[in-house]
Amino acid sequence: MHCPQEQPESIEILVEPHGGIRGRCSHCRKPAPGYDRLPPRRWLFVPLWNVPTYFCYAPRRVECPEHGVVVEHIPWSEGKRPVTCAMMGFLARWARRLSWRETARSFQTSWEAVYRSVEWFVEWGLAHRQLSGVASIGVDEIHWGHGLRADNFLTVIYQIDQDCRRLLWVGRRRTQATLRRGLKALGPEVVRGLRFVCSDMWKPYLQVIAARAGHALHVLDRFHITSHLNQAVDQVRRAESTRLRAKSKESAQRLKHLRWPLLRRGSRVRGRARQKLNALLGSKMATARAWDLKETFFHFWNYKSVIWAGAFLDYWCFRAMRSRLEPMKKVARMLRSHEPLILNWFRAKGEISSGAVEGLNNKIRVVTRRSYGFRTYKAMEMALYHNLGRLPEPESTHRFC
Ligand SMILES: [Zn+2]
Repeated sequence: MHCPQEQPESIEILVEPHGGIRGRCSHCRKPAPGYDRLPPRRWLFVPLWNVPTYFCYAPRRVECPEHGVVVEHIPWSEGKRPVTCAMMGFLARWARRLSWRETARSFQTSWEAVYRSVEWFVEWGLAHRQLSGVASIGVDEIHWGHGLRADNFLTVIYQIDQDCRRLLWVGRRRTQATLRRGLKALGPEVVRGLRFVCSDMWKPYLQVIAARAGHALHVLDRFHITSHLNQAVDQVRRAESTRLRAKSKESAQRLKHLRWPLLRRGSRVRGRARQKLNALLGSKMATARAWDLKETFFHFWNYKSVIWAGAFLDYWCFRAMRSRLEPMKKVARMLRSHEPLILNWFRAKGEISSGAVEGLNNKIRVVTRRSYGFRTYKAMEMALYHNLGRLPEPESTHRFC
């Protein structure tokens, strides 16, 4: 019978310096004469057979002609970290696929060690990333956590060029100061090179973009306008549903299970939902009229000419203002007051993809919602850069995963 061996607690790999090779100065990496030796230390290495593994080594001190007596350069480690670079890379790569807690548990280490590894990876990546050639950015606000306090919002800056879509910057809150900080972090060269800036109608952003990136074409992007329309339809539906319920249960039935079909593109609603929707549209209900306005607006995006698109926008707003549906009127007023920026969409001539910001937002939600066990804002910021920043990775001699 197979008898399970007792699992050793850890493996220690003793490392000795090569007698004939001098240590290198940790500042300039030049070989220098030896001075003395420090007591042995341990560095966590990639687990072997799933057993925690350490490098044990007593670092030498060298006497560098330039830097004095310093600890030698240790090729598997960086700074004073107790974890080898190989292990940090290993943990950081796994931390993209598993939650940080799961990563820590799988490889018998602490959450803290995973966090520090990701931090090292991200900091290296941010310091080495290339920011030249960024032509289009999308600026957006993201809600995270519970509640609607100012701290529950993040400002994100994406690169949304055809060939490169990534998170460039993330900061707490959604104020003018936040966005200014973000643009400053990208640097004046990047800001000067911008051709398109895409954003929502959030006023603080509009003001900062006009002031700091006035040379770029500012486009209010399609995805946000669509979501404002959808929210308005939903408000109309909810209000009408409440009104009907007060009258009779039966008539309220007509709006049941229609929330999602109403928010989808009309042409994409099929099956039983379609039948229900058709029945609703045949009625004179407020929800039906709101839905019709929303669907009509999609024609707007098919225009090629700015002038005709502008004419359509005027027509649509006129209709919406006469609809007696307050949420739709509100959208119309908002569109009217931002007309030039909305029409910039057509001036950009298809160079901006409407899906880019939306796609990146969805990915952010996956990261913020998946329980990564982020204990702090800082940890979440790291995770976002780690997953969406497309950062370059520190080179290693061997990849363990
Ligand atoms: Zn030196």
